[in-house]
Amino acid sequence: MIKKLKIPSFKSRFILIATLFLPLVLFFVFATFFYPPFFIFLSVGLFIIIVYLIPLQNRLVLRKAEVDLLSQDFLERINMTVLETQKEQAAISSFREKIVNFSELKGLTERLGICLSLEETSKVLSSEVNKLFGGPETVIILYVLEGRTGDLGIIASYKEKLEFNIKQKKGDIFDRWVVKTLQPLLIEDVKIDYRFDADKILEEDTRAIRSLISVPLLVGHRPIGVLRVDSSQVNTFTTEDLRFLNAIGDIGAIAMENAQLYERIEQLAIRDGLTNLYLRRYLNERLPEEVSRHLRSKSEMSFLMIDLDFFKEYNDKYGHMAGDIVLKMVSIVLMECFDQPGNLVFRYGGEEFGVLLSDCTKKKALELAEDFRKRIENQSILLRRQKTNVTVSVGVASFPKDAQEKEELIYKADRALYQAKRSGRNRVCIA
Ligand code: GH3
Ligand code: MG
Ligand code: MG
Repeated sequence: MIKKLKIPSFKSRFILIATLFLPLVLFFVFATFFYPPFFIFLSVGLFIIIVYLIPLQNRLVLRKAEVDLLSQDFLERINMTVLETQKEQAAISSFREKIVNFSELKGLTERLGICLSLEETSKVLSSEVNKLFGGPETVIILYVLEGRTGDLGIIASYKEKLEFNIKQKKGDIFDRWVVKTLQPLLIEDVKIDYRFDADKILEEDTRAIRSLISVPLLVGHRPIGVLRVDSSQVNTFTTEDLRFLNAIGDIGAIAMENAQLYERIEQLAIRDGLTNLYLRRYLNERLPEEVSRHLRSKSEMSFLMIDLDFFKEYNDKYGHMAGDIVLKMVSIVLMECFDQPGNLVFRYGGEEFGVLLSDCTKKKALELAEDFRKRIENQSILLRRQKTNVTVSVGVASFPKDAQEKEELIYKADRALYQAKRSGRNRVCIA
């Protein structure tokens, strides 16, 4: 607060005149008693002094009022200057804050830009949000919206104290509100927010949530998830925090969408559209790695080459669509029989399939191939109320028993398949 200005006072001049006036009066009394003629002279003098003092006093009062006004004006101006300085200081600090936020967002964009999978993107996003909003009482939760069911599901969460349990894996009343309204949400105190039923919230979650900020992750107008920061303390977040989280959410949503698209494209490039099995191209990529891994570990791996018997006939008889259904059925059985960690099941081309059996002996591979052949033989495909069947021929080769190179391994399995075809089909032959 500003101190009042010290304005020169005219009191001192009054005191001065009064001081002069007092001896004059005393002198007047003295003169009246001892020397009357002198009294006349003094009376005149006194009269002149009084006549001079009255307008002087008026002038002084006027002057004082002017000075008061002037000082008021000065005070006002000083107050205004102080207010303006305070405003400018606030603007500077908010500008500084914005620069910091901007550089945080820039860093976040760069870090998210190098993530190629949804999982990695989600982890980076939640840990970055934790860096900005994290504290001993806060929890960061990132949900994705399941396209088919429309349910939310936690994809990443972050908390400084590691032991915590989020009961609502599909989101709670607040997350559902954000997805429904597509609006950011700030709750300063859960217990006094009229929009939500506090008792219901306590029933829903075991964690004591008292305040939160939550934003929808939007791609255009389409929601793909929710980003939320909650706290067990009241009044943890401000509207400024919500605005900042919203900006992070916008960047995060784009990064998550990009990662999902990248994953989808990657899958399209390595998987067959009809059967969803890996393509031959992917085998060519993976086989050298697998060969060197098995060479290092001195373990055996086996390769199955599978071909449908008389499939052209089947197509001709029941149509190409029916043929496609058979190919899908075979791929399902293949996955059921061979989809294990380390193994690779793929469509080699047309009605031919391949299976790479990691750490599998030739004997075991033969057993597995035989089981698979039987399952296909016994599997009927119902077409226009008519039961149809297909059979498969399988060639088995092993590394390093039958082949020392990847090309040789495929060649040997192909030769064994040719052998199976020649010896009557619907059988398994080994190299
Ligand atoms: P084999 O027992 O000697 O293998 O006889 P095959 O008739 O199975 O062999 P062939 O190579 O003569 O015929 C393969 C057939 O597979 C021809 C083609 O119409 C069919 N085919 C290849 N790809 C597809 C596909 O994607 N869908 C359908 N429906 N048929 C396919
Ligand atoms: Mg065939
Ligand atoms: Mg063929």
